[in-house]
Order: sequence, then structure tokens, then C-alpha cells
Amino acid sequence: MKLADLDLRDLFDFSPEGGVMRFAGERALILDAVALGLVRRTLIETLGIRGARGVLTQFGYAHGHRTAMTLKSAFPWDSDRDWRVAGGRLHRLQGIVLPEPVPGSREFVEDIWRDSYEAEQHLMHVGRSDTPVCWSQVGFASGYLTYANGREIYCVETRCRAMGDAVCHMICRPREAWGDELDEHLPFYAKSALESALAHAAAELKRTERRLRTRKQQLATYRVEPEDGGLTARSPAMRKVLDLAERLARVDSTVLVTGESGVGKERVARFIHERSERSERAMIAINCGALPETLLESELFGNIKGAFTGATQDRPGLFEAASGGTLFLDEIGEVTPTMQVKLLRALQEHEIRRVGENTTRKVDVRVIAATNRNLTEEVRAGRFREDLYYRLRVIELEVPPLRARRDDILPLARALLASAAQRVKAKVTGFTPKAVEHLLRYPWPGNVRELENAIERATVLATGTRIDAGELPAEVASSVATRWVQGDERTLADVEKDYILAVLEAEGGSRTRAAAKLGIGQATLYRKLAAYGAKA
Ligand SMILES: [Zn+2]
Repeated sequence: MKLADLDLRDLFDFSPEGGVMRFAGERALILDAVALGLVRRTLIETLGIRGARGVLTQFGYAHGHRTAMTLKSAFPWDSDRDWRVAGGRLHRLQGIVLPEPVPGSREFVEDIWRDSYEAEQHLMHVGRSDTPVCWSQVGFASGYLTYANGREIYCVETRCRAMGDAVCHMICRPREAWGDELDEHLPFYAKSALESALAHAAAELKRTERRLRTRKQQLATYRVEPEDGGLTARSPAMRKVLDLAERLARVDSTVLVTGESGVGKERVARFIHERSERSERAMIAINCGALPETLLESELFGNIKGAFTGATQDRPGLFEAASGGTLFLDEIGEVTPTMQVKLLRALQEHEIRRVGENTTRKVDVRVIAATNRNLTEEVRAGRFREDLYYRLRVIELEVPPLRARRDDILPLARALLASAAQRVKAKVTGFTPKAVEHLLRYPWPGNVRELENAIERATVLATGTRIDAGELPAEVASSVATRWVQGDERTLADVEKDYILAVLEAEGGSRTRAAAKLGIGQATLYRKLAAYGAKA
């Protein structure tokens, strides 16, 4: 990589929640410049100007030295030259100073410094100075260049904003090129003492990091509750569901989980299973709607050899396989009347019969069923057995759709992003404000599953470290404000008008495209616009 590729978004590694942040791989802190200025004043007050200058020069030197070391190993540099001068760019990225090389300079390095934070703080807390004061910055440059070039390079500031100059100015030369001029500056580096201190600090740091790593691994092994992005519950609606689920985990009755497609019914079932007495054994899930009746029957109950063509051996079904654990029957509303009878018997008698077998077998399974259908309606229409319905819904748990728990969208999206990024090894850490706006605005008819797919896709497509609106699926990125806020009831005609005008705007005023997107004819669109008084 090249010098210009050094970018804050790659260098700065942080979680939106805060915690440990890293800059170029090393732990970094965000400190207030004024607070640092106060430390500076205290140093001057307690150690005198020369003492304070020594401390800050050495602090800068150590920082520069370590930075050069980290940068060398952290990035694949195209040329050594780029790496050798990267320190200046880094200082700029850290907000310390804005360095600019002096054009045509014949010095080893010669820079103008604009907006030096150090000069600014010195002026603020100590006042105007007769000599340059950007001590830690000069120290940083010396430390960086010395390590990067493998020889002693010293930088000297010749003009400084704290002295009343418009900008700071510094020159760096190899030690031998300075001659006597360097003598007055050298004591502040106290090099011999510093190097052994640095070596000691580096070794100590390595030991500490090793200890932390081991500790982290141990913690990961012991973690019993894996973070489940799909169950993020910040909203009151979802909190209520999980509270109830928590209580259901303590009893062994059948549970019916209802809710729209994609709301995460299986996740809720797993939540219950993992907190139940049965968590030592497996939870087995099957989608009853995906299999034809005969296949579903042998899948659930098993079969004996020769029961049907292809049944070459005795085989236990899922009721037996889940013994001691939980069986999750998804899309229970799809099973045929014949299967309904067989399921009812299994639930009532706690026994099953393998296909082709005459004897029954006892099973010890907790059943959690799920459906996105309204089973009351299905019962009323005669498509679902009433007795099975009552057997299943001993307790019913309704998972709300994502649009009814908007508070969960963002935390969910972030959790899903983190796991998607880890899966596809992408360095994507967040969303741009524009993307957030669309995520919150879109009604998510496909619920958590749709959100999950959208995030996965965007993570793969993302070019930066944050997902932008354009990387979200088209329907999400083009979603327009239709968010309904309680207490803001409007008539349907008003909502329609707002929506149509918003789509028109999103389509850059093109009525052809707007009509296509709205799924109405152009004549209809013209008529509606005319009624709104929009100009043709
Ligand atoms: Zn300065």
C-alpha cells in the first residue's frame, strides 16, 4: 500500500459501544486536548520548563518509535519510502498537527506544521513563549524517523505558533549532519536511559497482552449464553415475549409460537429450550410445510424396514431422536388432517408408532409448534382440528412483527452486521446515517429474516467500513417516509398523497418511473397529481 492509502477508517478500530479502541493495531484513547494542556501546565509548574520539555520530548519519542514499529508490520507497504514518512500523515490523522512538506527542501525532512495542538495548548495554559514548544511532536518525528531509517535522526523546531509565528516549522537531519547545533537539544532525549526503558516497556506490554489473550479465550469457553442477534429485545413488545418465554422454559408444557413469517419463531423456541431442563439434550427442528404427508410421517415417527419402497432399514424418527429434548414443529398449520390425528395422539399419549410397525413406543419430548397462520380461523374453516389446536396452544406466544418493534431494528441490524462481517471476513463495522435512516423507515414485511438477508448482502457488497444506503437492497434504499407514529393519525388519502409525492421525488420527478414503482397506470398518477394541485 501507499502513503495516501493510510486512512482513518482502516486504522481506527472501534465498536460503536465504545470499550477498547485500537489505532493501527495499538490500544488508543480519546483524550480531551484541554486536559492534556492542563497536564502540560502542571508538568511545567512542578518540573520547570526544562524538566517538562524533557518529559514531553521523551514521551513523543517513545510514541513515534513504537508507531513506526507497528506501522511497519501492520501494513504491506509498496515502498520503504512511504513507510519512512508515514509518521507525519499519522499525526495528521490523529488530529495532532497538519504537516506539509516544504517544497524543494534539501533537508532530510522539512515540514511546515499547521494547527499544532501543542502550540495551541501552550498558548492557552502557559502563554506566549520565547522558544518553540511543540516538544512531543518533535520527539515523535525524531523517534519515528530514527526507527524507520535505522539511524539517529533528530528534528528541531525553528519557528512555532506559540512564539507568535503563523505556523510551526521543523527540520530533521541525521545526527552527524547537525554538528554542534544539536548539542542544546540532545539532553532532552537522554537517549540511553530512554532505550532501555522502551525495551522494558515493550517486553512488559507483550507479556500483558499475552495474559489478556489467554484470559479472553478462557472467558469465551465459559460463556453459556451466546449472544443471539435475532433476539435483540430493546422494545417493550419483545421484552414481554422473552419474559414469558423465560417463564415457559421452567415448565414442560407444549407451546404454540405464532407470528408472521421471518419474525424469528424458531429463535424463540430455541431460547425456551436452552433455558429449560431439557437443554442438555438437543432441540430438533422440522418444517412441516416443506414435506409431503408420507415423507413427513416417516420423518417424524420413523419407519421399519420394508414399510415402503426405499425403506431399506429400521429408522427412528425425530420424535425418538429428540427424546429427552425438544421437538420444534414449524409451520404446523400446513399439516394434513391425517397427520393432525397422528400428531394429536403423539401429544396426548406420549407415544408414537413407526410407519409399518404395529407396536407403539414411548417418547419423552417437549413439543414447541409454530405457525404464521391464524389457527383460530383455520379451525373455524374446518381445516385444522380443534382438539389438536387446544392441545398445542396450552400456552401461546405471539412474536410481534419487526415493524411493531422499531426500537429493535438498529440494535438487531448491528448485531446481524457483526456476525455477518465475521462470517465473510469483511471489515464493515457500522452504517452511514443515510443507511440508518432507510433501515428505520422500511416496513420490513419479511421481518428479521429479511433484515438478516439485507445485512448479509450489504456486508458482501460494502466497499467502505460502513454500509451505505446504496448497498442495501433496492426496496430498502428506496423506502420513503411512511412511518406511522401514534397520535399522528392521518386519513388514508393523506397517507396516499404523501407516499405518491415521496415516490415521485425519489424518482427524480419522473412520472413514468414513479407510476411503475407505485404499480398504477400513468393516467391514474396524472389524475391524482392533478387532484393534489401538483403542476404538470
Ligand atoms: Zn510549534
